[in-house]
Amino acid sequence: MKFSFPVTRTTTPKKKQNPQDLVFGTVFSDHMFEMDYNPDKGWHDGKIIPYGPIMLDPSTAVFHYGQETFEGLKAYKASDGRALLFRPEKNAERINISNERLCVPTIDPDLMVEAIKQLVAIDIDWIPEAEDTSLYIRPFIIATDPYLGVRPSQTFKLYIILSPVGPYYKGGLNPTKILVEDKYVRAMAGGTGYAKVGGNYAASLKAQEEAIKKGYSQVLWLDGVEKSYVEEIGTSNAFFKIDGEIITSPLTGTILPGITRDSVLQLLKHWGEKVTEKRFTIQEVYEAQASGKLDEVFATGTAAVISPVGELCWKNQVITINNNQIGAISQRLFGEINAIQRGRTSDQFGWVTEI
Ligand SMILES: *Cc1c(COP(=O)(O)O)cnc(C)c1O
Repeated sequence: MKFSFPVTRTTTPKKKQNPQDLVFGTVFSDHMFEMDYNPDKGWHDGKIIPYGPIMLDPSTAVFHYGQETFEGLKAYKASDGRALLFRPEKNAERINISNERLCVPTIDPDLMVEAIKQLVAIDIDWIPEAEDTSLYIRPFIIATDPYLGVRPSQTFKLYIILSPVGPYYKGGLNPTKILVEDKYVRAMAGGTGYAKVGGNYAASLKAQEEAIKKGYSQVLWLDGVEKSYVEEIGTSNAFFKIDGEIITSPLTGTILPGITRDSVLQLLKHWGEKVTEKRFTIQEVYEAQASGKLDEVFATGTAAVISPVGELCWKNQVITINNNQIGAISQRLFGEINAIQRGRTSDQFGWVTEI
């Protein structure tokens, strides 16, 4: 093995909860991965240690200027007992794109994937086995210089933590209500929209909170200049099926390059569907609805895989999509990607890695 990390095992293993009762992001496994960076040694001292609080000086850079990047992926338990990861090399590639943007040192992608694998292997019993459950994996990097000056940090820490998650949908896929955001923006050309960084999320909370107050579960983000072009749905990528053609925004710098998005595009092309990456306006979506051509809307991301949209509200105009029912394409994508992730069907694209 090219990378081998020392392991300090916990002396106080935790009791595991019933997987059906798990609330996303509230329960953590027994161990975590930690690695340091400084300019002399580069990334060094990777190790697996008991999960627990970390101690940082109050002046630590990340607390003040948000120099932080992260990733999110999952491990699944196949019915034959194998533990599987879905395209982890894509996460390793993407965190380096985020790192590059935030002056965070890049990490050898092989080291990153190996760290994930070895950590999950130590906590393998933390992958829940019940239907639709998984182990969420959160790698993140923080700037650790104890210094209040505004400049890129010299030192960093990478952590990887694990959180068992229950079924995203209780009782099958559920269409959501989405508010089209026409006041706040998420990203602008030249900004950090394409990077997975904490700062983007801090900036989006206000819109999310206001949408929830109005009875919507997420916002649909429009472009930051004209507030006209469709970009993303909450923290997911957005797909629209209009007149038989499935469209999504191109990766122009303001869109997060979702791994689920990429997988969906590949599958749709493989199935012979007409799929196009192009800019399109919310006006076009509403016109398609008016002429009976808006077939489906869905969001894609690691957490839910596919999230069908049943209702959109833009400037107080509400439209219902596909009678608030799950569309055929949404249902098929959800079934197929889940089957691949859980090793229930052939992995024809080579997306699955066994731990
Ligand atoms: C993580 C994320 C996505 C989805 O990416 P996946 O790799 O499919 O999970 C989409 N949009 C934003 C803003 C994100 O942070």
